[in-house]
Amino acid sequence: MACPFGSGFPLQSFFRSSKKDFRCNPSRRFELQLKNQEMNKIQQALQNRILILDGAMGTMLQRYKFSEEDFRGERFKDFHKSVQGNNDLLSITQPKAIAEIHSKYFAAGADIVETNTFSSTTIAMADYDMQDLVYELNYESAKIAKKVAEEFTVKEPHKPRFVAGAIGPTNKTASMSPDVNDPGFRAISFEELRVAYKQQCEALIDGGVDLLLVETIFDTLNAKAALFAIDEIKEERNIDIPIMISGTITDASGRTLSGQTAEAFLISISHIPLLSVGFNCALGAKQLTPHLEVIANRTNLAVSAYPNAGLPNAFGEYDESPEQMASQVKEYLDKQLVNIIGGCCGTTPEHIKAIAEIASQYKPRPVFQSENLAV
Ligand SMILES: [Zn+2]
Repeated sequence: MACPFGSGFPLQSFFRSSKKDFRCNPSRRFELQLKNQEMNKIQQALQNRILILDGAMGTMLQRYKFSEEDFRGERFKDFHKSVQGNNDLLSITQPKAIAEIHSKYFAAGADIVETNTFSSTTIAMADYDMQDLVYELNYESAKIAKKVAEEFTVKEPHKPRFVAGAIGPTNKTASMSPDVNDPGFRAISFEELRVAYKQQCEALIDGGVDLLLVETIFDTLNAKAALFAIDEIKEERNIDIPIMISGTITDASGRTLSGQTAEAFLISISHIPLLSVGFNCALGAKQLTPHLEVIANRTNLAVSAYPNAGLPNAFGEYDESPEQMASQVKEYLDKQLVNIIGGCCGTTPEHIKAIAEIASQYKPRPVFQSENLAV
């Protein structure tokens, strides 16, 4: 997955979002009916084994050492603003690198890869004046990941590969003020978030994702806007599509940035039919364990976890080795805490391979998809 916590994002910049709407491609709507079948395939896979999610996109992209020029490619060579660091743009300007990274994670044992779309909303893309590219970014990212997934599924039909549309939290928060002198101020409204998330999700679905992953949730109200938008799309298109939800515990007291404990987070999203609920980012595998225990003991949904490769060191880098991370993940497995496991900041295909190997030795945690929640 791609996750920007290490770079000071998401709370340091607050930009006005575009209200411009995008339209989905109606010619693909018939095909979308097939989404209902995807739901069954993933649920079936979850009954049979612990599913492996990919690792960090950003860590892998750093290895390419792309310059400003590489980020721009031919198409944006005269763009008026610097775009270096806009990793999502690479789905358009360096699609081979993105496909290669997905391929490495599938080869390492991932069942699910995330699209390179963590920041592909009008709200986050405003940082680069690239709001108008949102549909294309999501659509192309989904196509790239889906093509690689299908190649692996053809080679290994016993282990179908899936693509999760990555939906980040944006760089604004709906339930808190960024201005300490004006606590009532909000940089974004629920409605603005709903519109932005709807555009993103429509393009991801049009591009062929198998499921949607609302992730790195630091403010549950932002996530609710995404869930509301997804629900609207499901109704309008008469489709069902699996939804994964992943919150982020950001401090030592075990709360999200908007102040919820793990249990409160679980309860606040429990009214939505979900495939899975869990946590990612901010903490290493070890520190995440007690929070996973809280939700695993209180829900009948599948539980997901994709922690960072340990806590960041003095340089903001993550240096837990694949073996160290796998040995901590073993505790999740021994305690039957998870159904879906992967990595966030600092994780690589080597981490995912080590995690996949140990997870393959365990039976999945029992899940009962027919009931939403047993809080
Ligand atoms: Zn992360």
